[in-house]
Amino acid sequence: MPYIGRFAPSPSGPLHFGSLVSALASYLDARHHQGQWLMRMDDIDPPREMPGAADDILRTLEQHGLEWDGEVLWQSSRSEAYRQALATLQQADLVYPCNCTRRNINASGGIYNGHCRHHPPVGSGEQALRLKLYQLPPPFSQLADTVEFTDLLQGPQRQDLARDVGDAVVLRKDGLFAYQLAVVIDDIAQGVTHVIRGADLLPVTARQIRFFELRSAPPPHYGHVPVATGEKGLKLSKQNHAPALNKAQIGENLWQALVFLRQNPPKALGRESPATILAWATQHWQISALTGIAAQPTP
Ligand code: GLU
Ligand code: ZN
Repeated sequence: MPYIGRFAPSPSGPLHFGSLVSALASYLDARHHQGQWLMRMDDIDPPREMPGAADDILRTLEQHGLEWDGEVLWQSSRSEAYRQALATLQQADLVYPCNCTRRNINASGGIYNGHCRHHPPVGSGEQALRLKLYQLPPPFSQLADTVEFTDLLQGPQRQDLARDVGDAVVLRKDGLFAYQLAVVIDDIAQGVTHVIRGADLLPVTARQIRFFELRSAPPPHYGHVPVATGEKGLKLSKQNHAPALNKAQIGENLWQALVFLRQNPPKALGRESPATILAWATQHWQISALTGIAAQPTP
């Protein structure tokens, strides 16, 4: 069976240790299985973008020897594909307008309860479009409200889409496509078979699987690797100002990421070239060393 993996950073800041870990894990799993490793730039949300970050991320990955196959797929160039997918979902009676505010939704418990399915908004105020995820019209009515899957690392997972998720925004009030839908449309277009990424995305996986089902496409295998946390146990992220990687110590960065991924790299490996480090790590890659670990402190 062919293996197609990918790394899909959002250009909201420079690559930090946590994103290097995700990139490295997806790269190693793909290469270990003689698979392809694709690159997608999730630049779909201009307000959250940091100028120059996309190029900086790509250059940093190259400096770490993480070479991808083919061209980078830029989400900013994919509007037509997203529009078409949305139109198909609309024709299938799966999409409806919603003018509820975050405040309305929080007041009714935080999970969107499908209010506008039954009470369509009147007037011409700002509207989002939502996709039905449960209690679906034919030919999808046989899909259960609960999505179950087995994560390659985190084991059996189960989410009730009505109770735990709610119908998902697919077109935002500001007219931008929702990132969750774009991800799935692109994973389908790129033929992705394996998604190895940070465990912070585990909670959105069930709804993404439902998107695949509503596009009549087989979902990929998912494996969620531990997220790197900072001092207070919070995920390292651009939002909490994780430091950019030190480009003066490429080998050391890779070595630390391998330690974090519990691959037991020999101490001297950190002084080798990126190519040598990655060759060792590809050969010795054992994803099972991470079974059941969803977060751990940055070394
Ligand atoms: N672009 C997303 C992020 O940086 C990741 C998407 C994915 O791996 O599915 O959080
Ligand atoms: Zn609504």
